[in-house]
Amino acid sequence: MLFDSHVHLDCLPEVCLADEVAAAQSAGVGGFLVPGINRAGWDHLLTTVARTPSALAAPGLHPQSAHDWNADCRRDLAGYLTQPKCVALGEIGLDAVVEVPSALQETVLRDQLRLAVDCGKPVLLHGRRSTGRLLEILREERIERVGGIWHAFSGSLETAQSAIRLNLALALGGPLTWPDSQRAAQVARALPAEWIVLETDAPWRAPHPHRSETNRPQWLGLIATQLAELRGWSLAETAAITTANARRVLRLGEDSAP
Ligand SMILES: [Zn+2]
Repeated sequence: MLFDSHVHLDCLPEVCLADEVAAAQSAGVGGFLVPGINRAGWDHLLTTVARTPSALAAPGLHPQSAHDWNADCRRDLAGYLTQPKCVALGEIGLDAVVEVPSALQETVLRDQLRLAVDCGKPVLLHGRRSTGRLLEILREERIERVGGIWHAFSGSLETAQSAIRLNLALALGGPLTWPDSQRAAQVARALPAEWIVLETDAPWRAPHPHRSETNRPQWLGLIATQLAELRGWSLAETAAITTANARRVLRLGEDSAP
């Protein structure tokens, strides 16, 4: 069984949700973690995972939504994080491409990291063109106390090692399959096996040969197949290793779904 550690099921058209989930399940995907983006979307996020037995939620504020943050918002988020299906806080981080001042992004990131530590929840991280600064803040906030997953990891092996020291697994997705991503393939070959997890990031960043299309949860299998080839693993081994890793970093007990 494969585990999709980052899939925006709440951003798919509602009429498609059940069909998309069923298609993914037929392709061997047995679990989904759905990250939050903005405060207005948290209710819909929770409804989506409630309707999907094998889905879990990670509510939080994406750096593009940093303007949503205030004391009320923090209180709401802390409340959501007490719900059984909310296993992580995400997706949070720094993004040098969005038009939100970096000082505000950093404040909101730090506040959410502290909330994650207070609640004992792992984090889902988003970093775009801000790796050095993100690592610095993660170290200062001692995020290794809760750990989590570095979503859409596209950094060097050295960056991966720094992340691993902070108890962060590296999530590999569609770009691993793109014919022009040589470095991603090299890094994926060299990563310690116990720190690799898989993600689609659907509906974005579709794998080869669907790169120009809207990404679909069922295509996690294409990413897993590519990783299996790079590592010399069978598909069954790839699923077993990456799913066990996701369950460990998200601290999913034997009895919790999925
Ligand atoms: Zn995302």
